[in-house]
Amino acid sequence: METRHDDLVVQTPQGLYCPPGDFHIDPWRPVARAVLTHAHADHARPGNGAYLAAEAGAGVLRARLGDIALTTLRYGETIDHHGVRLSLHPAGHVLGSAQVRLEHRGRVWVASGDYFVSGAGGGDDANPTCAAFEPVRCHCFITESTFGLPIYRWRPQAEVFAEIDAWWAANAAAGRASLLLGYSFGKAQRLLAGVDPSIGPIVVHGAVHTLDEAYRAAGVALPPTLRADELDKAARGRALVVAPPSVLGSPWVRRFGEARDAFASGWMQLRGTRRRRGVDRGFVLSDHADWPGLQRAIAATGASRVIVTHGYEAEMVRWLQEQGLEAGSFRTAYGDEALEAQAEQAPRDPPAAAGDAEAGPPAPPAVDSPGDPPSAA
Ligand SMILES: [Zn+2]
Ligand SMILES: [Zn+2]
Repeated sequence: METRHDDLVVQTPQGLYCPPGDFHIDPWRPVARAVLTHAHADHARPGNGAYLAAEAGAGVLRARLGDIALTTLRYGETIDHHGVRLSLHPAGHVLGSAQVRLEHRGRVWVASGDYFVSGAGGGDDANPTCAAFEPVRCHCFITESTFGLPIYRWRPQAEVFAEIDAWWAANAAAGRASLLLGYSFGKAQRLLAGVDPSIGPIVVHGAVHTLDEAYRAAGVALPPTLRADELDKAARGRALVVAPPSVLGSPWVRRFGEARDAFASGWMQLRGTRRRRGVDRGFVLSDHADWPGLQRAIAATGASRVIVTHGYEAEMVRWLQEQGLEAGSFRTAYGDEALEAQAEQAPRDPPAAAGDAEAGPPAPPAVDSPGDPPSAA
């Protein structure tokens, strides 16, 4: 992206930087002052001097980064730093996720971080585990674009959860466990909040449990869950086991006996992704905006200039330019799956991979078909 001398956010080797405020947003190298949009490992890294983040995410941030020098803001609360007015606004992505609004000399920029807005249900299909995305008017909007291709269109969550419940109930009726894989921060809690806990006991992996506790402490309602060693052997054929994808093939999984497995991710819209993961089923459930959601979110900002990060930048930039907007992209280090893998280690459990909601394959858009037909009952 061509920058101008008075841009409120520019890219530097450390990450996105606000020159008049002298702070970084989600830096990928250590800096003095880091404003964080959320606690996924590609956005929230250790080693910064001081951190600023949304109050709602303080617990999950500390669960991941330990005892950092953290200042928090409530959503909508404003502070002034070197003449830059800064506030944080809900992004609907994970607990505590925020868009960063910056105002300086009459100009307003918003850096979205990752956000969830779905085209399904007229756009009000919100993530129940965190505050819903709020559009913020601005002159320049820095948007993510993880699923920035027209093939990505989410169905209403209620339909997806009805499918997951039916799959779990059928497995339980056949006396086999249901292993439901999803990233342990964000997706796992979304799965727990959405399934019908009357079907059977729910077991969570240790990496999931740690984050569940932070969610519960923040007041998010999740159903009762067990740790693997608390599950009665007689009940394991009815259990739903929520765990990160890297447990596949590990001894931790074998304790549940005969099981069916499934992966929940926006990437499941590409049939090849499920095949590569080697699971029975794929459920299309994302914590990122789909194509209509991105369009709706960008339009709602009223921005005349849009900077794209984190995904299909070229495609999204082209589309925005066709709409008559000034558009460009920033090259960021977001969506780094190897980094996510390190974030997911939990004591007494096997190492688990991938913490970001969907730091999945930036798969070539070679689509078999939209939707992912079931291959197993
Ligand atoms: Zn994220
Ligand atoms: Zn991200």
